[in-house]
Amino acid sequence: MKVNEIFYSLAGEGVRTGQATIFIRLAGCNLHCWFCDTIHDNYNEMTAEEIAVEVNKYPAEWVTLTGGEPTLQDCAKLIKLLKPRHKISLETNGTRYVPWLEKLDLVTVSPKNLFHPKAHVDERVFSLPVVEAKFVITRPEDLEPTLKFDKNCMLFLQPMNNDPHITKLCVEAIKTNPQWRLSLQMHKLINIP
Ligand code: SF4
Repeated sequence: MKVNEIFYSLAGEGVRTGQATIFIRLAGCNLHCWFCDTIHDNYNEMTAEEIAVEVNKYPAEWVTLTGGEPTLQDCAKLIKLLKPRHKISLETNGTRYVPWLEKLDLVTVSPKNLFHPKAHVDERVFSLPVVEAKFVITRPEDLEPTLKFDKNCMLFLQPMNNDPHITKLCVEAIKTNPQWRLSLQMHKLINIP
């Protein structure tokens, strides 16, 4: 598998914010968002077994597969190896549905269709057992189309880079639309990976 990095930190976004988590960042993405804040192109080739050995050096229960876009690689064997000891979440742009997503404990879908007209989300991802939808709000105009999203899952607005002005707008939007929640990038606020 093409592994950009494996690191241990606290989850910084969404419903699991603050939980100790081992992150496996897989290389490559099928989109090129202008606001992308991750360098994910470099990688080392590792087998699923080698990744599992590295992950099991840490005491945390939760593992997050992230990227880039982790569904570009076949993670089925890695999930099988990690499952006895770990809960596994995955962060995806939602454009690719793969059967092994059904094995995960949490799938975070962050649609990018506002920024890429062709970045269609495969609706099947919203039928997975536990899903949170996390929308990056880059400018005030992103809010109106985002708030029309009505799938039955946990819903998060995430101001880009914790921008104070966008954050204020998100707070007001959530007060009017209380099915939504705020996701700040906690790791950036406290300067951890
Ligand atoms: S989908 Fe995510 S990882 Fe891919 S380019 Fe966009 S922000 Fe970056």
